[in-house]
Amino acid sequence: MAEHTGRGRTAIVIGGGLAGMLAVTALRGHADTVTVVERDRYPAGTAFRKGVPHARHLHILLSGGQRALDRLLPGTVAALTEAGARSLYLPRDLVTRTPTGWQRRFDEGRHPTLSVTRPVLDAVVRERALRAAAADTRVEVLEATEAVGLAGDARRVTGVAVRSRTGDRAAGDARVLTADLVVDASGRGSRTPRWYAELGREAPREETVDSGLAYATRMYRFTGPGGEPGIGVNVPGWPGCPRGAAFVPVEDGNWLLTLSGVRGHHPPTDGAEFTAFSATIGDPYVHGLLARAEPVSPVHGFRDTCNRRRYYDRPGALPEGLLVLGDANCTFNPVYGQGMTVAALGALALRDTLDRAGGLGPGAAARAQRAICRAAEPAWMAAVGADRPYVRGPGATAGPGERLTTWYLDRLSARAAIDPVVGAAFRDVFCLTAPPSRLMSPRVVLRTVLLPRRPGLREPAGVVERV
Ligand SMILES: Cc1cc2nc3c(=O)[nH]c(=O)nc-3n(C[C@H](O)[C@H](O)[C@H](O)COP(=O)(O)OP(=O)(O)OC[C@H]3O[C@@H](n4cnc5c(N)ncnc54)[C@H](O)[C@@H]3O)c2cc1C
Repeated sequence: MAEHTGRGRTAIVIGGGLAGMLAVTALRGHADTVTVVERDRYPAGTAFRKGVPHARHLHILLSGGQRALDRLLPGTVAALTEAGARSLYLPRDLVTRTPTGWQRRFDEGRHPTLSVTRPVLDAVVRERALRAAAADTRVEVLEATEAVGLAGDARRVTGVAVRSRTGDRAAGDARVLTADLVVDASGRGSRTPRWYAELGREAPREETVDSGLAYATRMYRFTGPGGEPGIGVNVPGWPGCPRGAAFVPVEDGNWLLTLSGVRGHHPPTDGAEFTAFSATIGDPYVHGLLARAEPVSPVHGFRDTCNRRRYYDRPGALPEGLLVLGDANCTFNPVYGQGMTVAALGALALRDTLDRAGGLGPGAAARAQRAICRAAEPAWMAAVGADRPYVRGPGATAGPGERLTTWYLDRLSARAAIDPVVGAAFRDVFCLTAPPSRLMSPRVVLRTVLLPRRPGLREPAGVVERV
């Protein structure tokens, strides 16, 4: 039997994770009632939960994501810091080892990066989003309730079929909740493409670019002499050595170490083998740190890291009454740290579009979907561009355009490690605060192309440089 979720304009958000809570925020004032359908029961405090297995792994929130989050929910970055998140300025406090050497530690003061475990981040955002929305929208969160289908027909989505869960099992029959708008924010496992078939629609076009990267993560504390290192580090893999590591502080004096590797180089989940793997990445610094760090968790693995986007913004790809946000719309190789920022930029695009359209009128969802997809585009270009060398099949050769782009970006990232001007542009784009065209500004192009290629530093710099 169909139940209406309320009177007036109603919305249902599938998934009460990060994108779901930001969708609630964006819908504030545009829907009278928002019902969040969340498969899990939220844990007390900041424990890990099953529906977000990637939450065990290192997550940083780029400056572009922090700005978007604070525009949606003012004061959230400060609340995260209050909850223990560490603010690491690039490249002063979080230094990258590029294929040509370590970055210089410019005190640029432009790009703080938040480092915190996902349960803390999600709990702070959830609490603030629900509190803020309650001021002008009735929000109901149905925990332990799974979306199992979409209601409606090929032309229009009118609601969501849901089923209660007890523990890991479905309990009782499915029932239908109706709404004027359904937002799918159910993450990388979104079933909307499959549910399209039940509505009599073709699945949206999907593009995947898979480097085959796997993650393994362990939490540590620096208890011995010397204490914590003064900096977080990132040693991404590169084609010559496709194994990497990132080691950053999080709340409560803990540090997260994520090791990664593409196909044939997957990091192990056995503790001793994990430590041994850290000695095989492109630089010995991280392995050296482990001598003074004590593990305080098991090793957790994660394999589904493919870049995947669904073209819900193409003409006719979206029935009326449906929107798709966050990882359900577009997922990225996590090694570039972009997914949460893109979820926040997408939610901001949703809010701005609804504000401009004056609410949930006809065509507003399709316009908002186009804006959400546009907001994801720069991150998509960066991630798939960087992953191309790992993805091309054996024997395939790159065309002249791709060879030129690879040559330029290679030179640019080597220059960015040592040059404050090129470095600032690189970070503006990487942190999703400026469009990729910033990398083609005359000053950046001239310095990249004309200045001689020089190696980076041989080890992480002890000295911070003023710029
Ligand atoms: C290993 C790893 C590391 C990452 N590191 C970073 C990083 O450093 N920086 C960064 O910005 N991003 C990172 N990401 C990406 C980031 O995790 C995602 O972009 C982000 O979680 C997207 O949020 P979401 O709300 O769309 O999805 P999720 O966080 O996956 O939330 C989806 C929610 O929907 C619920 N749900 C799912 N299906 C249903 C259903 N049928 N019915 C009801 N509820 C449902 C789930 O329980 C969950 O609560 C990483 C990703 C991975 C895999």
